[in-house]
Amino acid sequence: MKKIAALLIILVSLNASAQSTSQQDSLALRKLYDVALLHGQSYAWLDHLSNNIGGRLSGSVSAQQAVEYTKSEMEKLGLDRVWLQPVMVPKWTRGTPEYAYVQSQGGPSTTVNILALGGSVATPDTGLRANVIEVQGIEDLARYGREQIEGKIVFYNRPMRADLIHTFEAYGGCVDQRYSGAAEAAKYGAAGVIVRSLSHKIDDYPHTGSMSYGDVPNNERIPAAAISTKDAEYLSSMLKLNKDLEFYYKMNCRNYEDVESYNVIGEIKGSERPDEYIIVGGHLDSWDVGDGAHDDGAGVVQSMEVLRLLKESGIKPKRTIRVVLFMNEENGLRGGNKYAEVAKKNKENHIFALESDSGGFTPRGFSIEARDSQYEKIQGWKPLFEPYLIHYFARGGSGADIGPLKNGSTVLAGLRPDSQRYFDHHHAATDTFDAVNKRELELGAATMASLVYLVDKYGFDDIENESEILK
Ligand SMILES: [Zn+2]
Repeated sequence: MKKIAALLIILVSLNASAQSTSQQDSLALRKLYDVALLHGQSYAWLDHLSNNIGGRLSGSVSAQQAVEYTKSEMEKLGLDRVWLQPVMVPKWTRGTPEYAYVQSQGGPSTTVNILALGGSVATPDTGLRANVIEVQGIEDLARYGREQIEGKIVFYNRPMRADLIHTFEAYGGCVDQRYSGAAEAAKYGAAGVIVRSLSHKIDDYPHTGSMSYGDVPNNERIPAAAISTKDAEYLSSMLKLNKDLEFYYKMNCRNYEDVESYNVIGEIKGSERPDEYIIVGGHLDSWDVGDGAHDDGAGVVQSMEVLRLLKESGIKPKRTIRVVLFMNEENGLRGGNKYAEVAKKNKENHIFALESDSGGFTPRGFSIEARDSQYEKIQGWKPLFEPYLIHYFARGGSGADIGPLKNGSTVLAGLRPDSQRYFDHHHAATDTFDAVNKRELELGAATMASLVYLVDKYGFDDIENESEILK
């Protein structure tokens, strides 16, 4: 009887302490959201990054200005250490604005909106004029064969699926046309490629993005451009009327030797376990059209804000918390690879990495790459987030820049904002500061800071030794 009573007392006190812990935690989260929404800094940082610096393509003057600006802003936060991590990055320039038109034999020409894809070679100085073959994807090339493709411009026109709720899935279902379309078409003797912009919206803005020639030799590389969705529909409808029409485009983009750039890093040293690292980040580079406010200025300023929020809220982390602003996500991922390489060389134990690179829209939750037990632990914190309408905790990809840290024990996560409008802006001239809502941006920062706070406080030690397969 006595034993049972003692057990009950233990259980009651355990329950009480669990309750007070969770009460402490909900107060801590409330404080983080309060500071973000009442005294936030992220929006002002984004304003400067977008409007005073602008598009930040790797190797450009503005990318270097962004490095210097974010470093100096981090230095003002009173972090324990702020530094630059050198990394060699590709340099590609767009040159003068692209020009393109569609012309039916002898008839009038209609100009269309295109953008060179990042890394593309230029057209000849006088431009490239050829017939067009429309395909719905790379898999169509083999069906048409060299006899129907040689000397023509391959027009990839598979649209993003509208029925997928997760728009990144729709993007993932089409991005091979942009990334590998030129390399594949070159194998069939194509003269060039035009790719339908990766956006649901039918408008006049082409969306650029990275592409690769794979193992296609230099002298066989063909120019590649994105065409706006509206002009893709126009070109497709014109081809139905006249398959012999001609497409003309002129681009003088150029690839240079690699140049030196930097990841920008700041950290708060852990008070109890300084050798365990938690990192939060986004990528500092962006495409050159627009000002990269959503992709990924938002992730940059939110990540900086996480460290500021922890400090302003009086939270002294047990583990070392780092903000990492990665260079060159868009056309090389050199920054992400360099960070992981140095971390490995220095034998730094990263327990958690969180990236924000899905736009500055209303946060919904996180997608998580972790073992079952780690994932369940994070899911256990879900009730703490519910007052802030954060409810999405699912397994899935985290972020490109933190991907190289994947090792089977580091937990990786990506902030998941509402994605319905993201691809209206992604890699286009419409990715601008005015498209970012201040409150949505701030809510994202507070949501990230909350997860960082919980991971720092509880860690994953208790489940560290389980031998599970990473999912
Ligand atoms: Zn991005």
